[in-house]
Amino acid sequence: MDSYSVYIHIPYCKKKCRYCSFLSSAPEVKDLDTYIEGIQAELKLYKPFLSNREIKSIFIGGGTPSLLEPAQLKQIIAAISVSLNVKDPVEITIEANPESISTEKLKAMYNLGINRLSIGLQSFDDNVLKSLGRLHDVQSSFTAIEKARSAGFQNINVDVIYGIPSQDIARELDGIKKIAPEHVSFYYLTIEQGTPLSMDKIFKPLNDDSFQELYTRVHEEMIGAGYEHYEVSNFAKPGFQSVHNMNYWQRGDYLGIGSGAHGFFKTGLPWIGMTAQARYENAYPPSVYTEKVLGSDSNPAFPISRVEVLDTDAETLEHIFLSLRTWKGINTNLVKNQKLLQHLADDGLIQITGNTLKLTVKGMCVMDGIVTELF
Ligand code: SF4
Repeated sequence: MDSYSVYIHIPYCKKKCRYCSFLSSAPEVKDLDTYIEGIQAELKLYKPFLSNREIKSIFIGGGTPSLLEPAQLKQIIAAISVSLNVKDPVEITIEANPESISTEKLKAMYNLGINRLSIGLQSFDDNVLKSLGRLHDVQSSFTAIEKARSAGFQNINVDVIYGIPSQDIARELDGIKKIAPEHVSFYYLTIEQGTPLSMDKIFKPLNDDSFQELYTRVHEEMIGAGYEHYEVSNFAKPGFQSVHNMNYWQRGDYLGIGSGAHGFFKTGLPWIGMTAQARYENAYPPSVYTEKVLGSDSNPAFPISRVEVLDTDAETLEHIFLSLRTWKGINTNLVKNQKLLQHLADDGLIQITGNTLKLTVKGMCVMDGIVTELF
């Protein structure tokens, strides 16, 4: 059976972090219950269209999905398996923040079949956490990992942010080695306009040389600690690459459920009468989403607010960008400016093996420039 992934968006957080530009806000209890009803209704709408396909990964992200009670998570997972076909085994990930997970909640999540936990630790320095406006401290991060292990989780990702002024990268790398997660997403801090962080004058992007030095150090130490650098920002112990994220990077189909969620189907969106490959976005805020999907007169409707149709050029460019991010690379036949290949290889920016082109670590630091020159 042809497979695809499912992303469920929980757009709620206790408090907004200072750097955050994601779709999230603080919830009311009644909001959460209505929202779960909306998710159940939306999943049901897809049932007639996806009955001959199978889910290979589920990602419950946000926001802070660990704010949900186990009973609410149970409703979501049950609704997925009632409405859609789920592969066995399936990777099920939930995002969690250290301050919103108790041992009981983690055990309940694990017993529901959630087998991958993605924890937003962000830093092993309390001052950095404070400057980012996070609600947890370093000690609670260590405790969260211990609780997760004792609840049974054997596949844990941690998110870490780097590129913060005054951050000691050695401390971050030591912290990671101490907790030894199976997967690490190491994100470079991007300062989004309009966030409180963007008003702080001290937060400035690193210059190219400092960035390359920092990125190379992270790469070398992570490789030394037994991780594979399988995507620009992601490291995994062998066998622990994220099925869900690989599906995105390989342009696999995915269903986006929930307010503000995105989805993509190469086969089109037949549920709204579209046959061309397209990406879609669901309505936001949650009140608009639930109104649409739950329907006024019991007349539920797909809560899609925007659709982007992709032509062949857009498809090729997306394939190039996404594949170059990963260790799989791309076929050299796709390169328009073939004359430059040897030059870039001599500069140590790309590596060519047979017909496959991959970026080197140095090349990953200037990926956008390479893509512009080659394609
Ligand atoms: S926890 Fe994540 S989604 Fe929520 S405010 Fe912080 S960065 Fe944004």
